[in-house]
Amino acid sequence: MIDPQDRVAVALSGGKDSTALLLLLHHLLPAWEDVRLIAITIDEGIAGYREETIQSAEQLTCRLGIEHHCISFTSLFGGSLDTILKGREKQACSICGILRKKALAVGARLAGATKLATGHNLDDEAQSVLMNVFRGDLPRLVRNSRLESSGKFIPRIKPLSLVSEKEIATYLILNDAWRELPECPYTHYALRREVRSMLSGFEYKHPGTMRHLMESKEKIERSYKGSVMPESIRSCRECGDPCSGDLCQVCILRQSLER
Ligand code: SF4
Ligand code: ZN
Repeated sequence: MIDPQDRVAVALSGGKDSTALLLLLHHLLPAWEDVRLIAITIDEGIAGYREETIQSAEQLTCRLGIEHHCISFTSLFGGSLDTILKGREKQACSICGILRKKALAVGARLAGATKLATGHNLDDEAQSVLMNVFRGDLPRLVRNSRLESSGKFIPRIKPLSLVSEKEIATYLILNDAWRELPECPYTHYALRREVRSMLSGFEYKHPGTMRHLMESKEKIERSYKGSVMPESIRSCRECGDPCSGDLCQVCILRQSLER
């Protein structure tokens, strides 16, 4: 995933996964030729939650001596997530996800990154597979990976995607980096929360369920890629970002929020 002379931007929320990712990459750094790490934290503007995780990110980067950039939704999109979500709380995670992805891409570009590393773990990835199935949105898996490997995005890497949440927690405890942090207040609106609890139950009763889900996803992706490739990669009419339609997801969202 990482090549000599890469400048790797780590998406550091300050939570468990991204903290483990940064610690791990920092630990491996001496073995790599001229690789540099930068941390990027996105401040979505979620009162009572983000302050503490941002502080945790700042302390970690300071201790490790890693360049750290913090970018806020307010500076990029003209308002905090709390403001944007007024009356639309049920859509919190999908709106937050679209805007954060854009913010990270902007941050990585500004920092001159050649790779963008995120802390998604096996549990997250398996949950996403199931959520896409529940929503009947399977083509999304293929569309995303196509766009991201098109050369128009800074390549995203997920070094922990085969590492379970439990293993990450163990790693943090062993490295004396475990810290209790508050939970995002919008979590209870999220479909992910229910899928997470269901999948954890399955994994407990039938170990290997999450890995098997990932294997299924890869098989579906492979066969889908070979058959249906309807859209070409275009530039967003409003902002010029690569997308599959006329407008990118952020511009579609902007327009729907203005209505
Ligand atoms: Fe954003 Fe949802 Fe995560 Fe909260 S739980 S930070 S709203 S994606
Ligand atoms: Zn756009």
